[in-house]
Amino acid sequence: MYPPARPGDPLELVDTPALLIDLDRFEANLKRMSGELAGTSVKLRAHSKTHKSPIIAKMQMDLGAVGICCQKVSEAEIMYQGGVSNILISNQVVGEKKLRRLAALACQTQLMTCLDNRENAVDLDSVARSFDTTIDVLVEIDVGAGRCGVAPGADALELIDAVGDLKNLNFRGLQAYQGSAQHLRTPEERKSAIDFAVACVNKTLSELHSKNIDCPIVSGAGTGTYPLEVESGVYNEVQAGSYIFMDADYARNLDKDGQFISKFEHALYVYATILSAAKQQQAVVDAGLKSLGVDSGLPVMSENDEVDYINASDEHGVLAWQSKNVSYEVGEKVLLIPGHCDPTINLHDWYVGVRNLRGPEPYVESVWPVAARGCVF
Ligand SMILES: *Cc1c(COP(=O)(O)O)cnc(C)c1O
Repeated sequence: MYPPARPGDPLELVDTPALLIDLDRFEANLKRMSGELAGTSVKLRAHSKTHKSPIIAKMQMDLGAVGICCQKVSEAEIMYQGGVSNILISNQVVGEKKLRRLAALACQTQLMTCLDNRENAVDLDSVARSFDTTIDVLVEIDVGAGRCGVAPGADALELIDAVGDLKNLNFRGLQAYQGSAQHLRTPEERKSAIDFAVACVNKTLSELHSKNIDCPIVSGAGTGTYPLEVESGVYNEVQAGSYIFMDADYARNLDKDGQFISKFEHALYVYATILSAAKQQQAVVDAGLKSLGVDSGLPVMSENDEVDYINASDEHGVLAWQSKNVSYEVGEKVLLIPGHCDPTINLHDWYVGVRNLRGPEPYVESVWPVAARGCVF
């Protein structure tokens, strides 16, 4: 598949729809996170399910991340092949086929995975033994998200004990991610969700302590809540992913003054062309459901807040406005902020990295593959 642009192209020559990175803002976001964690005892284990790119993962590691998270074994394979080491699969890996793939990868690089089930632990141990390797594991506890994870406290201890009895598994710590807290809008709601998560971790840690079981890692947090996990004193890794690009949904989170949080700036766009301007107060772009993830809301216009993206179909998006000041011509290009960055990225083969997007003479500096696109195995 040909990329929509080549390095050196001026912005006007980028074909659409294209997944565009504002490189200046993107780099500022990377540095901001690294700077914030620099004075703390908490490390970034950046979530690569956002970007699916070993190139970006290595930039995060160069700026101090201890490792990365993947959601799937096949993503981890791509990251490893791209030169990334220290990978946590922050998810359950189930079934012999995947466990064998996981063990094969663990023979080659530093790898951890999550568990919340004893049978799954037994299966993983036996595959690891047949590969003559040991696998590091985090036991996942449910800290309030109601998805995966054993109950904190006694249930967690029981599973951790079981893992301890399995010779080819190493218990390395707790996975304690509160996913449903990330987009709670107010700081009070986020704080109360993470206070609960921290209490769940503490309850489990005290069980472990009473049995003299070491728990070197407590990992969790995303872009919406990580300052709270950092402050908690119990987490020592944060797994933020979206902070590098942001999206329209994250931009609706509020700070303590009731303002939209703007610490990390939008750095990811779908660049689109006006296909039709045949109607009054309406235009149609060439970016619809096949280039934009709309699960967390429709995209938002980057440069003109008088214009709304009101409807997405396969290959079309309808823009509408009331203002008399707005007009578009066929062939004009616009920047759309995706509603949700991760699923949007997964629809594209290439990132087009643009330097000086908001300055004079913006140009394409880099074209990177979305290397782990479609890695759902
Ligand atoms: C998605 C995810 C994250 C990152 O969340 P962001 O909101 O993208 O920062 C962290 N940990 C786990 C387990 C996740 O699934």
